[in-house]
Parts: sequence; C-alpha cells; structure tokens
Amino acid sequence: MPVFYYYPLYAVCINALHSYLAASLYIRWYGLFNRADFISDSEWNRFIDFSEKLETPNIVINLHQIKFNYIKLRDAFPYAQVYYAVKSNPGDPVISLLDELGSNFDIASRYELDAVLAHGIHPDRISYGNTIKKARDIKYFYDKGVRMFATDSKDDLKNIAEQAPGSRIYVRVLIENTTSADWPLSRKFGCHPDMAYDLIVMARDLGLTPYGISFHVGSQQRDIGTWNDAIAKVKYLFSALEEEEEIRLTMINMGGGFPAHYIQAANDLHTYAAEITRYLHDDFGDEIPHIILEPGRSLVGDCGILTSEVVLVSRKNNTALQRWVYQDAGKFNGLIETMDESIKYPVISSKDGKDAKEGEVILAGPTCDSADIMYEDFKYKLPLSLKAGDKLYWLSAGAYTSTYASVAFNGFPPIKTYYME
Ligand SMILES: *Cc1c(COP(=O)(O)O)cnc(C)c1O
Repeated sequence: MPVFYYYPLYAVCINALHSYLAASLYIRWYGLFNRADFISDSEWNRFIDFSEKLETPNIVINLHQIKFNYIKLRDAFPYAQVYYAVKSNPGDPVISLLDELGSNFDIASRYELDAVLAHGIHPDRISYGNTIKKARDIKYFYDKGVRMFATDSKDDLKNIAEQAPGSRIYVRVLIENTTSADWPLSRKFGCHPDMAYDLIVMARDLGLTPYGISFHVGSQQRDIGTWNDAIAKVKYLFSALEEEEEIRLTMINMGGGFPAHYIQAANDLHTYAAEITRYLHDDFGDEIPHIILEPGRSLVGDCGILTSEVVLVSRKNNTALQRWVYQDAGKFNGLIETMDESIKYPVISSKDGKDAKEGEVILAGPTCDSADIMYEDFKYKLPLSLKAGDKLYWLSAGAYTSTYASVAFNGFPPIKTYYME
C-alpha cells in the first residue's frame, strides 16, 4: 500500500511549505519590513536633514520623486495623456511641477479649478471629472473655458447641456469588481453600461459632443485583471454605439488605480502598463482610441513622509502585552485612509535600528474620538523602548493626506506640508 506510506510524507512537505509561506507572510505583514525597500539611504538622510527641526505633525513632499514618477508613468504609457487627479495632493508646488512636465488636470470642484487656473494653466488642459456637481458650478467651469465634462446620470447631463453647450462629454461606467482595491471608488460613481449607452445618445441629441467612456477600477487596485473587464465593457459600448447610432467615440479615460508602495505588495507600474496595453490591443487591435489616465496615488503616494510625535505610550492593564501608542497625527489630520485599516503605511520610529526588541502596538491619534484609531486589528510592531517625544515616520504618505484633514477638530490645526526639491 504505497499510498499509505507516501501520503504522510507528502503531508509533511505541504506542512513545511505552509509554515514557510506563513513565515514569509509574517515578515511582509507584521512591520518587519526594511526601510530600504521604500526609500534609499541617501534620500532618507536628505529627508532627516530637511525635517529634523519641523514641528510635528507634518508631511514632507519630495518633488524630485514626483518628477521621477511622472516620467516613469509617461514612459510606461507613451500613448496616453495624463490628467493628474488634483485631489490626491493639491499643493501648489506639486501643481507647478506637473504643469512644467506637461500634465493635464482632473478637477473635482470650482475651488480646485481656481487653484489650478491661478498657475496660468490653460482651461483646455482641464477636465471636470466629478460626476456630482451643481448646475451653477458647471456654468462656472464653462465660463472659465473648460469644455470637457464627465457624467453618469441624466440630470447631470441635462445640466451640462444647458450650462456648457457643445462641450465634450465622457460617461463613467460602473466597475463592480472592486474588492481587490484598497480604497474602492466605484460604487458611488459611474452607471451601468446600458445607461452609459443611453447617456451618450442623449448627449448627442442635446447638442453635446460625445467623446468617450471613463472608468475607475478603484484606488490602489492590486488586481490588474480589473482593467481587462473594464476595457471589454468599453469596447462593447464603442461597437454598439457605432453600429446602432453611428456615434463614433474616440476616447477612453482609464482613471487612476495605479499603485503606490505600501505594506501590501503590488506589482510595479511596468507590469500594469504591459498588461493593460495588451488588453487594449486585444479589444481594439491596432487602432487604440485616444487614452487618458488620471493618476493620483501612483504619482504622489510614494513621495511624502508624514512625521508624528509620540504623545503617550500606555497599557490598559498591568499585564497587557500590547501597548497603545498615541501620537499627534490621526484620522482627523492626515491619516483618514487608515479608515477600516484600508491603507497600510509602512511605519518606522526614530528608534528604528537602535533597539532590536519590538512589540505589538495599537496605533491611535491624539483626539477625543474613539474612531481616531489607525491600526488595531492589524498589528504593527514598534520598539519596546518607544516613549513620548519619539518620532514616527509614516512612509508613502504623499497621497490623500495633506488636505484630507479636519480644520480644527478638538482644536488641532490641519497638518502642515513642506516641500523638498
Ligand atoms: C480620485 C480619482 C482619481 C485618482 O485615483 P488614484 O487611484 O489615486 O490614482 C482619478 N480619477 C478620478 C475621477 C478620481 O476621482
């Protein structure tokens, strides 16, 4: 009965493999990562010199790194036009830099519009990408010269036809499979492809210019295959509209979703580009429509470090193994994307490397709201010697942090941002 002999051996091997995998997962998930995986020693030293004397909490944005990321994106998608999603980091030096690099801008409100126009950026480099907007704000954009609008509903489309006659329209479709995105966006925005079809026909009938289809697969989308499904839906719409309505759409806006570098691994940008480009050719052959990308996180996420100061380290009972680490940044001043522990920033301390012994911590913010806890289920490890006054460095905190903060909850001012060349 050789089966009986070999089966246990086989089981032992599988067990060993499982333990090995569990151990590597442990390393990946429990904060035992290497700072060097996220930032080079020379950039780290430059950052420390720059930030040492700054009041905490603060965010330091590395403009040089944004330039690097922009060029990397352009090289990965040479056929695409970039519309930077301004909301991800609307800092003036960021806008200036991306203006110089030739980026266009995806804008979500009249306030963002004013901020971008103040740089002298021409309105034909701007798209009003928010599908939720007041009629008077559409008029405001139109009066300033913007002629490209996103929509996903009939009422909004009617408003655009009235307030921004003749403008180019693209319709955002819903992408349902967003469980693999760390920060999903799609449920709130977009419509079913059948409705997108109707909206494009309606846009033509209202005297607007049907331009294309957009989607957003969810921010920090780790499943590249999601773009495949989305592009297939777009292809179906392009073909149906051309065959049945003689409307020839010419643009696909593939949104954002490209990765920044957090604890949970994602493929590198070139892998995304290679796969997505292949999907486009699979569906459209050699005649790929005009492609727009709206990156936010992938351009600026890796380019910021948020520094906080430890306010208090405590235990909830005398024998508790876990420490609570309260520090001066939290959900209300920069770290809102830790909601549901969605985005897992690499966090290191000023004691990093100086004290080998680490223990599990619960990381919380400084306000009197119990929602102001960043990580409790997911256990970060920090040095056992950590104490008030030490600093914590939240790496890859350049996106959705600087303006994603309350103005004065509990009296705490919004987090300050500094820019390093
Ligand atoms: C927020 C947003 C983006 C940026 O998405 P990232 O995942 O940060 O790159 C792009 N397009 C639209 C319409 C958005 O709302």
